Amino acid sequence: MQPILPVYNTFDLTFVRGEGVYLFDDHNKKYVDFSCGYGVNALGHCHPGAVAALKDQADKVWHISNMFHHPLKEKLAARITAASFANTVFFTNSGAEAWELGLKMTRRYFASIGKPEKYRMICIENAFHGRTVGAISAAPKDYMIKGFGPLLEGFDIVPFNDAAALEKAITSETAAICLETVQGEGGIRPHSQEYINQLVALAKKHDLLIFLDEVQCGMGRTGTLFAYEHYGFMPDILCTAKGIGTGFPLGALLATERVAQYMTAGSHGTTYGGNPLAMAVGNAVLDVMLADGFMETVSARGVYMAEALHGLIAQFPKLYREQRGMGLMQGVQCQSGIDNRALIDVMHHEGVISIPAGDNVVRILPPLIISEREIDEGITAMHHASQKFMEKI
Ligand SMILES: *Cc1c(COP(=O)(O)O)cnc(C)c1O
Repeated sequence: MQPILPVYNTFDLTFVRGEGVYLFDDHNKKYVDFSCGYGVNALGHCHPGAVAALKDQADKVWHISNMFHHPLKEKLAARITAASFANTVFFTNSGAEAWELGLKMTRRYFASIGKPEKYRMICIENAFHGRTVGAISAAPKDYMIKGFGPLLEGFDIVPFNDAAALEKAITSETAAICLETVQGEGGIRPHSQEYINQLVALAKKHDLLIFLDEVQCGMGRTGTLFAYEHYGFMPDILCTAKGIGTGFPLGALLATERVAQYMTAGSHGTTYGGNPLAMAVGNAVLDVMLADGFMETVSARGVYMAEALHGLIAQFPKLYREQRGMGLMQGVQCQSGIDNRALIDVMHHEGVISIPAGDNVVRILPPLIISEREIDEGITAMHHASQKFMEKI
C-alpha cells in the first residue's frame, strides 16, 4: 500500500514553492493559483507580513498550554470580537474542530437553560462541515459516511434555500439551524436574501440558534470579513478557519455571550488550538484584512472575476452554464455531460489551478490579494484550456 493513506484522488502535480498568487511545481513551471488550497491562502503564498510574524514568533515561543495566557491570543480574540457579532472566541486547528464546538455549545446552551429536549440541528443538503463523526452526521454524503456508522443522532437535513421545507422541519426538539452562509463544497451557492430573512424570522419565532459555518466563505472571501454581513443579520454561533491562517492551521469558533456563557472551565479544550505560532499568523492576517480599503478591493476584484467568468461562459457555451458566487468565492457550473474534473485537468496543464466543487462546478478561490492583471492571466489560461477541451470533445 502507498505510504500515504490514499483517501485523496490526487492530481498528478507536485508543488514545491509558492509566491503571491503563483505556485511552482517540481519542474519550476509556474501556475496561477485560483484555488489556494480550498480558499486557505487568503494572502497568497508566503505573504511577507505573515512570514515575518511566523519567523519572529518562532524565535520567541512555539507552544504554551491554554492554561496560560499569551498576549497574541488575547489580541487576536479582541480583534475578532470587535470586528464581528461575537463576544467570545475559541481557537482551534481546523474547521471541523471549530464546527464541532459549535455543536457542543448549542446542546450545552439548551441543556443549561432547562430545555434539554431541544438538541436537534437542522442542516442543509449538500453542506460540508468537515470530517469528524459529528460533521459527517450533519452533512452526510454516501462516500463520506459509508462504513463509519453509527453516526451521531440529531440532524434533520433540508433542501438548500427552501424556507418552506425549513419551516416544516422545525419541531419542539429543534435547537439550531446550521448553514454555510455561502455553500462551498456544494457548488459555490449563495443563499437568497429572502431565504435568509425567512430563516431569521423562523429562528426568532421558534427560539432557535443560528449557527453559521464560514470556514470557507468567511475571513474576507466574499468581500466582507464575514459573509453574514452581506445579509444584514447576526448569527449566534459561527465557525471559521481556512483563510484566517493563510496556510497556517488555525480555526475559530465565535459566539455571543448569551449562548457561550455555559461553556465553563473544563467543558471543552484543545492542546494546540490558540498556539502562539498560529496567533502570530492570525494577527498578521488581520493586519491586512482590517486595513482601510482591503475589503472594498476584494469586492471589486470579485466583480472583475465574475465578469471575466461571464466572458468565458459566453465564449464557450457548450462547456459552461452559469457563473455563481460572491466576492472572490466564485464558480462556473459546467454543462451536464461535461466532466468538471477532466476540464480542470486541462486548466492545470495550461497553468491555472482551479478545483472542482459539487454540482459540476469549477471552483475559483484565488488569494484575496490578487490583482486584475493576475486575474487576467488565470482567465486567459482558462480560455486556452477550454479551447483545447472543445477540440477534444
Ligand atoms: C473546509 C471546510 C470545513 C472543514 O475544515 P477542516 O479544516 O478541513 O476541518 C468545514 N466547513 C466548511 C464550509 C469547509 O469548507
